[in-house]
Amino acid sequence: MKLSHILVVEDEISIQTIVRTYLESSGYGVTVVDNGPEALTQVQLLQPDLVILDLNLPGMDGMEVAARLRETSGVYILMLSARGEEADRVAGLRIGADDYLTKPFSPRELVARVEAVLRRRRETAVSPATILTFQHLSIDPDSHEAMAAGQPLELTATEFQVLLELAKNVGRVLTRDQLLSLVWGSDYYGNDRVVDVYVGQVRRKLQDATGQLLIETVRGIGYKFVDQRK
Ligand code: CA
Repeated sequence: MKLSHILVVEDEISIQTIVRTYLESSGYGVTVVDNGPEALTQVQLLQPDLVILDLNLPGMDGMEVAARLRETSGVYILMLSARGEEADRVAGLRIGADDYLTKPFSPRELVARVEAVLRRRRETAVSPATILTFQHLSIDPDSHEAMAAGQPLELTATEFQVLLELAKNVGRVLTRDQLLSLVWGSDYYGNDRVVDVYVGQVRRKLQDATGQLLIETVRGIGYKFVDQRK
């Protein structure tokens, strides 16, 4: 299997060093940059599998870097922050980060999170290539493309996973815990608020594209995808 390449965007040298050391000894290719503009350039050049992005950078901050990355790339983003506030976490996830780790963190935990995020991609890659087709939506698990009302739907990697799992279970309610385990992995120990944030984003994008409410909230339980199969 191809070596996964990770771009680390961090201005603190001590953290650069420890992150590089742990990731390299876990078998990843690692490139380190210390500012946002350089990160945007390197993502284009290197096409990394994952970006570890510090929130607090001089000049362009991590939120802006993530927002700009999301305009052109579906690359996985793991955010690092000294701030552990729920509001920051949710803001980071809303902007398209796939996971969020608060400093100080254990390097082993960082490696575990990286592995969990990359495992999601591999699990998708080996799933059967059946294109799911509905009245308003079609989803190709292999190419990671979704079409809504005949137009490509712009989704981040994690948003795509959320939509795919809901659509595979059309007409059935998935609980937050089920979605967490299907999309983020059973070893994810974050808050299930993350599920609400992502489902909300996917639902809004679907609604903008089709004018239909295709993901229903089942109060106190979870979410259900309701588009009719063709
Ligand atoms: Ca920093």
